[in-house]
Amino acid sequence: MTEHLDDPADLDDLTTDVLVVGGGPAGSAAALRLARAGHDVTLVEKRPVGRHKSCGDLVSPRALAELQLLGTDLVTAPTGGSALATAAHHVAGVRFTHGGRCTSVAWPQHPGFPGHGVVVRREILDQHLRDEAARAGATVLMGHEATAPIAERGFVRGATMTLPGGGQRAIRARFVVVADGANSRFGRGLGTSRRRNWPYAIAARTYFASPRSTETWIESAVGLPDHHGNPIAGYGWVTPMGDGNVNVGVGVLSTHRDIKGLNTLKLLDAFCDRMSADWQYDASRRLKDPTRLRLPLGGSIEPKMGPTFLVVGDAAGAANPFNGDGVDAALLCARLAAGVLDEALTTENSTTLQRYPMLLADELGRFRKVGRLSARFLGRPAILKPALELAVRSDATMGAVLRIAGNELRARPDAGGAERAYAVAALVSHLAPSW
Ligand SMILES: Cc1cc2nc3c(=O)[nH]c(=O)nc-3n(C[C@H](O)[C@H](O)[C@H](O)COP(=O)(O)OP(=O)(O)OC[C@H]3O[C@@H](n4cnc5c(N)ncnc54)[C@H](O)[C@@H]3O)c2cc1C
Repeated sequence: MTEHLDDPADLDDLTTDVLVVGGGPAGSAAALRLARAGHDVTLVEKRPVGRHKSCGDLVSPRALAELQLLGTDLVTAPTGGSALATAAHHVAGVRFTHGGRCTSVAWPQHPGFPGHGVVVRREILDQHLRDEAARAGATVLMGHEATAPIAERGFVRGATMTLPGGGQRAIRARFVVVADGANSRFGRGLGTSRRRNWPYAIAARTYFASPRSTETWIESAVGLPDHHGNPIAGYGWVTPMGDGNVNVGVGVLSTHRDIKGLNTLKLLDAFCDRMSADWQYDASRRLKDPTRLRLPLGGSIEPKMGPTFLVVGDAAGAANPFNGDGVDAALLCARLAAGVLDEALTTENSTTLQRYPMLLADELGRFRKVGRLSARFLGRPAILKPALELAVRSDATMGAVLRIAGNELRARPDAGGAERAYAVAALVSHLAPSW
């Protein structure tokens, strides 16, 4: 059931097995899985209607694989399937550019992931996942902002909601899933915080109408210059949406030496101007005002659990430390969290929640450590400049970069140059301090 609040008066309080706070990919996927497992789940989303989430709109091969596990038809039905599949635009790979050079790299081949990505507006993807959760039996409540946890004998047992007109509603639950995104005010209220010395990203995007919207390659301009002309650890992107528009954005790692002096919105302006001739759009006619967002990366938010709650997606700082992609990690967190919650509810044993951080570390721990180490090095122009100049000359090198950054490494006997380079970086990161 999805309840939209047209008349937001005070509503009855509720009791549920699991309260999920946040209706983005992490929260909706967790609610969907738990509802399918037969549990009583309530998902609350603070926005009264679907939202525009600031995003590059890319569903990476890893995210596609997670969506396939959830049963969406995004991979199998490029046209003529669900509204989601119909809206999706397939992309074959990434065209990297730097200093007048250009290298096109197809998505890596990997036995576990599709060999393409998909571009779909986030409001469509997020709505689809919320609808699927409701169809599976979850109660989906729009316009419900979880403002304060309900604590009983020291345990979190639900939350108080604020409704758009100012009304209140209490939702009591045995367990809570914190999925309220990068800012995670609710999570912080439960004591989560970011490790200050780990990298984060600042990103912004906008849209333009472009006749090149149906192209099937994303453009990624690496090493954009800062105001001193030094390359920035980060990249600009132009993503063809397939619907008449292109998504244009920039993302910068906090390890960039002059991050405090860098204005991401100005960087985006300059990038939009620079790409306008090539992508045939009018840079003065933005279709959406950009907002600058801070994105925690690489699992930098702790703790990821308490005795009766789990933290998933951006609220747990789950996004990829190499490229800022976070939809795949949000869906992965949801899968792992739903698994331990299902067991806790079925066996009446809440200690199973303690396995969640370990399961996450097993899946992503090493990759994240290598990513954090790389971010440190790439923040130094003296290393980044020559590395970029060498890398963009070679299809093989940029292919390895895409494979590593997308976490699409292969096991033996298929492993190649990317896996060898990654193994060296993993060894160095193993010996390095915890960042
Ligand atoms: C500019 C930019 C570009 C990006 N591009 C990409 C990309 O191309 N591909 C990719 O994979 N990733 C991308 N990312 C990262 C990606 O957007 C996130 O990692 C992903 O959205 C995380 O999903 P989530 O469900 O954890 O959080 P969110 O998608 O942020 O969802 C959180 C939800 O919780 C709701 N909420 C918040 N507080 C409350 C509350 N108190 N009560 C109830 N509801 C609440 C919010 O309204 C929101 O709907 C990008 C990020 C940025 C900033």
